[in-house]
Amino acid sequence: MQIGDLIRRAGRQFGAAPAIVDGERVVSFAEFDALTDRLGNGLLARGLRPGDRVAAAMPNGIDGVVVYYALAKAGLVRVPLNTRETAPEHAYKIDDSQARALVFGGDAPADVEFMIEAGELAGIIDAASPAPCDVRRDPEAPLRLAYTGGTTGKPKAVVLTTRSELAEVANFLVDLLPNLRPDSVMLHAAPITHGSGAFFLPHLVKGAPSIVLPRFTPAAFLEAATRHRATSTFLVPTMIAMLLDEPATSGADLALDRLCYGGAPIATSVLQRGLDTLGPVFTQLYGQAEAPLAITCLQPWEHTPERLTSAGKPYTFVEVALHRAVDGVGEVLTRGPHTMSRYWRRPEATAETIEPDGWLHTGDIGRFDDEGYLHLLDRRHDVIISGGFNVYPREVEDALLSHPAVAAAAVVGLPDEKWGERVTAAVVTRSPADPAEILAFCAGRLAGFKRPRAVEIWPDLPTSPVGKSLRREVRDRMTSATAT
Ligand code: AMP
Repeated sequence: MQIGDLIRRAGRQFGAAPAIVDGERVVSFAEFDALTDRLGNGLLARGLRPGDRVAAAMPNGIDGVVVYYALAKAGLVRVPLNTRETAPEHAYKIDDSQARALVFGGDAPADVEFMIEAGELAGIIDAASPAPCDVRRDPEAPLRLAYTGGTTGKPKAVVLTTRSELAEVANFLVDLLPNLRPDSVMLHAAPITHGSGAFFLPHLVKGAPSIVLPRFTPAAFLEAATRHRATSTFLVPTMIAMLLDEPATSGADLALDRLCYGGAPIATSVLQRGLDTLGPVFTQLYGQAEAPLAITCLQPWEHTPERLTSAGKPYTFVEVALHRAVDGVGEVLTRGPHTMSRYWRRPEATAETIEPDGWLHTGDIGRFDDEGYLHLLDRRHDVIISGGFNVYPREVEDALLSHPAVAAAAVVGLPDEKWGERVTAAVVTRSPADPAEILAFCAGRLAGFKRPRAVEIWPDLPTSPVGKSLRREVRDRMTSATAT
């Protein structure tokens, strides 16, 4: 089966019903099928060949979705670029993926053989053949390249295939969104280049529309969620915190059945506040670019107080194990058809990440509790070793975030002659606070070796465009400040 087959079938089954809504513009299932056929044909007619990489820097909206799935039908490899990133970041990915074409809005970040300005898409679609665009590709051939967050170095491209994409859709339908029907409604408030994009096909195959917001703000989210009676959405933890800080959220008349969240650790205090305000609709997913959004999930009814620190249980058809666990703690491994086939042009990194028998190293450290729930401690590279003890920054950040004045926290290890590394925190405060008082607050909550030795108050913390904390940058800033 090909991705195009799902689109064609949805076009036939759900015809004139709305498939994508973007402000006042609505595209039906049949129109979506026709638009993606035409654009796929138009791109091939321009001289692109199946297997060519096509970078797309498109904001959230109908055109972006049409481009993505036209590429799938034409056998072209999608390289999505997040429009929040800078031109040099885009240029790196365009060069690394050896993209032959670039579809872009605004200023072009690089010059490649085929430059397609977003404004030209309508003309290409009008001029193209309306015949079905149906390039059949090997299920193991690249379908799209997903760049990793780059929290530890230069972003690497993960090769995802038709096999992994279909498995992701199936995993979502079985575990994450088991109740989808034609009257379900997905609200895409996060970038579709990332996690939210994975929710498009599961809704499409069930005849449920996708509402696309150009940009997340709490007010825009609430307006669209109430107007369209959204039943599913995906938010990263930072967006949940912003939504909860919006006074209108608590009184909003929402129809949410599943508020899916993940992509980064969530502070327990934020999650608890979310449950109190929005009810038992939270569904956590843990995944990564290498195993897209499907390693474990925590169902709404599993959000009990003792499980709020857990990322849930393995998806039904996904294997999860721990590597070389000591005292029950080890690196999380996963195996199944959902995983990447390899890193793009990085055979050594692929060999380090995927075992010959298919187990994929996630780089995350975790432990299972007695009932089979996975608890993620931290990224392997971020673990601080202080006086011979492992300190997981996430646990320290969680303690800091339970302080009423602390809005954001990043904890890193700085070199220390005596202890090897010393736990140090940078925090952003929402009201005036005294670092000494924050340190004293931690004393009641964390064992001595985990407690920060110093807390610095910063105006903001470095984060990646999808809201991941960039601890490496925090550490670099702190070490260069001590060196000067
Ligand atoms: P990326 O490949 O950029 O999507 O980053 C994936 C990483 O984000 C994972 O390896 C985890 O470290 C982190 N992550 C994703 N989902 C969760 C979650 N639910 N809880 C904690 N960390 C998560």
